[in-house]
Amino acid sequence: MSPLQLLRRRPHDEVHTRVADIVGVDDGPRPMVEVRDVRKSYGTHEVLHGVDLTVQTGEVAVVLGVSGSGKSTLLRCINHLEKVNSGYVAIDGDIIGYRRSHDRLHELREREVLRQRTHVGMVFQNFNLFPHLTALENVAEGPRSALNKSRDEADALAREYLTKVGLGDRGDSYPRRLSGGQQQRVAIARALAMQPKVLLFDEPTSALDPELVNEVLDVMKGLARAGMTMIVVTHETGFAREVADTVVFMDQGRIVERGPARDVLDHPQHERTAAFLAKVL
Ligand code: ADP
Ligand code: MG
Repeated sequence: MSPLQLLRRRPHDEVHTRVADIVGVDDGPRPMVEVRDVRKSYGTHEVLHGVDLTVQTGEVAVVLGVSGSGKSTLLRCINHLEKVNSGYVAIDGDIIGYRRSHDRLHELREREVLRQRTHVGMVFQNFNLFPHLTALENVAEGPRSALNKSRDEADALAREYLTKVGLGDRGDSYPRRLSGGQQQRVAIARALAMQPKVLLFDEPTSALDPELVNEVLDVMKGLARAGMTMIVVTHETGFAREVADTVVFMDQGRIVERGPARDVLDHPQHERTAAFLAKVL
């Protein structure tokens, strides 16, 4: 049985397979994010039909595609919010849902999967801040509850990251007192405060008034230049040109085109990519 078939077995089957069979251990530097032949179905509806994506440490990948092409589902699989039906996702060499000991893989329990998830930060289109918490409390919450930081430590982290996104003076503000751009910057600070290995962004500027888009993109560009590994679903092709190492185009649950930003944006090879770009540019 191949390793990928092994991972296709039911969730609570015993899975003991050699790590080297799955993640080539001697294949040079291991990628920060490795998505291998991932399939995801909702009921009988398969929405990801075998997606491969590799992002090296410090790289930025931008994901383009029309609504319904599977972009959010892909991010949710990378962030363990969804279980894949087959294939695997590995973060920094650790396969999501599995633990290696020596050269064997063992299936993790739910609680341990939640701990793995802290390595992957996510920023959503609609900010998803807690309305009853201040900006500072929103950012400090994760370090306290998931990383077991003391209140003082968590507050210090929160202040540090709010300052990084230009909101050091707004810690006491509740989300409703902040603009959409400020709320999204708080959401970025909240993700950063977990000190993730990877940050995922799902259309982070799509809900913003046009004049607020750049303050968020500027924070994201700063993170990209500082070496954060990022996967960004966005239609902002200017952002892609400036900071993306790779642009991928998804269509109906498949990545149909990938390459350096300029190649994909200026010389799309696939007719669906060209049609999409003609609309967003
Ligand atoms: P995108 O982010 O590119 O717009 P999505 O990943 O949200 O695409 O959706 C891809 C497909 O999966 C769509 O057909 C959508 O209806 C379907 N889908 C997404 N989430 C669910 C879900 N929780 N249950 C059932 N179908 C879903
Ligand atoms: Mg989406």
